[in-house]
Parts: sequence; C-alpha cells; structure tokens
Amino acid sequence: MEHISKQDTGYQTRWDDQIVITGAGGFIGGSLARHFHDRGFTRIRALDRKPLPEWYQRVEGVECLSMDVSEKENAIRAVEGAVEVYNLAADMGGMGFIERFRVECLRSILINTHLIDAAWRAGARRYFFSSSACAYNTDLQKDPRSRALKESDAYPAMAERGYGWEKLISEMFCQEYWAERGLETHIARFHNIYGPNGTWFGGREKAPAAVCRKVIEARDTGDLSIEIWGDGAQTRSFCYIDDCVSGIDRIMHTDALIATPVNLGSCELIAINDLVTMVEEIAGVKLKRTYDPGAPKGVAGRNSDNTFIRKVLGWEPQTPLRTGMERTYAWIERQCADRKAGKRVVQD
Ligand code: NAD
Repeated sequence: MEHISKQDTGYQTRWDDQIVITGAGGFIGGSLARHFHDRGFTRIRALDRKPLPEWYQRVEGVECLSMDVSEKENAIRAVEGAVEVYNLAADMGGMGFIERFRVECLRSILINTHLIDAAWRAGARRYFFSSSACAYNTDLQKDPRSRALKESDAYPAMAERGYGWEKLISEMFCQEYWAERGLETHIARFHNIYGPNGTWFGGREKAPAAVCRKVIEARDTGDLSIEIWGDGAQTRSFCYIDDCVSGIDRIMHTDALIATPVNLGSCELIAINDLVTMVEEIAGVKLKRTYDPGAPKGVAGRNSDNTFIRKVLGWEPQTPLRTGMERTYAWIERQCADRKAGKRVVQD
C-alpha cells in the first residue's frame, strides 16, 4: 500500500475531498461538520455512536452514520476514501463525569488507536486529534493564580487521572505515526470549549452550561438559590465554539504544526464565582449561593498560554467570554423552554 511521505506535506485540500469527522453527533464534532459544510466542502462523512435522532446537529448534505468507531472494523469503514480525518469522538464530560468514570475515559484510547491506524492504511493525507488541557501536569495547577500552561508543561507527565492520560498517550500515537509512518497528524489541546449545541444537562455538562441552566431554573422556579461546586475560587479559561472550529481548521492546515501539540483556548481567566456573577447579570437575577466542597471541582487553576499559537498562526481565540456566554445562555434558555413545553431535547 502506498503511503504519503513526509515530503508530501503542503497538500491543498480540494472541495470534493472526503472529510471524515468522528464524534459528530456531539458538541464540537457537530459544529465542525457545519463549519466545513458552510465553507463549501461537498463530501463530509460524520460519525457518532449515538443514534441519529440524538445528535445535536445534523447538517443537510452531510453523510451521517451511527457507528462505534472504537471497533476496528467500524474504524476501517469510517475512513474509507478519507483525505482528512478529524477525531472528535471520546467518552467524556465535565468534571462530574471525568472524575467519576475514569475507566470509560481511558477506554477512548480504543477510538484513536483504531482510527489512526485505519486512516494511515487508507492513505489519508491528514489526521486531527482532539486532546485536552487535562493532559498537562496537574502539579502546575494547584493554585487559582497558577501561571498559564504552555505546551512544554505536559512533561514531566502527571496528567489528570484517567481522561488526561488517555489524551497524552493518544497524542503520542499521533506523534509516532508521523515520525515512523509519515502520516501527517495535528494535535490541539482544547481548554474548556463552550457554546450552543452542547451538553447542558444530564451529568456530562461543563461549568458554563451548568451555570446557565441552574440560573435559568432558579429564575423559572422562583427558588432563587444556586449550588456551586467547590468554593467557587477555582479558575478556568473558556473558549467559544466558533473560535474552536476555526482553530481546528487552521491547526490542521499548518505544516509548522505537524505532530506538534498546541493549545487551543482562551487566555481570559475567570473564577467560577465570577462566572456565576456574569450569568446572573445576563439573566437579570441575583441568587443566594451555597457551596458543595465535596463535589468534583478539578484542578485549582488552569489557563491557556497562547504564545505559541500566536507565533505560529498569528491568531488566537478572540470571542470575549461575556459575548459567548450571552449566546450560550440564550440557546440554553430556548432548550429549557422546549423541555418545559414537552418538546424533545437532546442531552449527551
Ligand atoms: P461530546 O461528548 O459532545 O462529543 C463527543 C462525541 O463522541 C459524543 O457525541 C459521543 O457519542 C461520541 N463518541 C463517544 N464514543 C464514541 C465511539 N466509540 N464511537 C463513535 N462516537 C463516539 O464532547 P465534545 O465536547 O464535543 O468533545 C469533542 C472532543 O474534544 C473529545 O475528544 C473531547 O475529549 C475533546 N475535548 C473537549 C473539551 C471541551 O471543553 N468540550 C475540552 C478538551 C477536550
């Protein structure tokens, strides 16, 4: 079988090249399928193990298949004829999920392992892996004022148990498939992506969606209180979905980023308490706060150092948190109204 050599990089993707996106029934994969469709690509295959009616987005003109790509045969079928493969599939969720279900998170290793091998065997030109800031050394994130994480901070390795280690070893697969086998791979470490068309209830949702939902429910029920996980002093940065998909597109098509993990996140740091205040302002309510110190809360502080992405791409995520949260809040408000009206809403 013929494979692409390292000298063949710089390939210009054609509008009718086969693009394959896994995890496309989920938040980021679904938005990525829409992004490529809107850019004019005509052959997009979207895959997810969820049944089709449960996908957040099904874009017209995109081939949508329900299959579990952690199975080798399915992974082979998934990438047939693929020029570019984007692996956004993982068994994951917010802290409430990844702290409780480490085995499930680790088992996502099967997805990337089968998919990258199938992509290489199929002669795909490029392969994208969605890694995470959870791959970073947790010792560097013990203070809410911890310095922002730069790419070299993943080693010496002390990743988030379960989920973070799966990401780190899958990154290494990507690096070695390039080094040994010449498959062009690209790796982004996402920092808390948020926005419409993602999980907002059910246990897998992340802080921005959870806070919006809690504030909306408090307002709707008249019980003007909110429970915050931990002491609310933990800090994070949150990256809006439009910046994320645009970043994936740029990272995948930059030769300087072959087999080189890069942060894809905002550097606008905020404490969870202040995020709650922001959503209260958007909603026009003020809630009584209670704190659950025993709830999953993750590391004390985490921010994205964007020096590298700025240098290589001359770009970084730019949507202000307030703008992105207003859009997210409006979408979740509509979802809550639909749920109340007995309409079907999808959760994970
Ligand atoms: P998501 O849960 O909304 O989407 C993931 C999708 O993968 C789900 O729809 C799920 O059904 C699907 N999936 C899981 N196992 C599968 C399998 N075996 N075969 C086929 N499909 C399968 O999550 P998301 O937020 O869209 O995340 C996408 C990727 O980005 C994941 O790899 C995730 O780890 C990574 N990531 C996300 C964030 C974030 O803040 N959302 C942060 C860091 C990394």
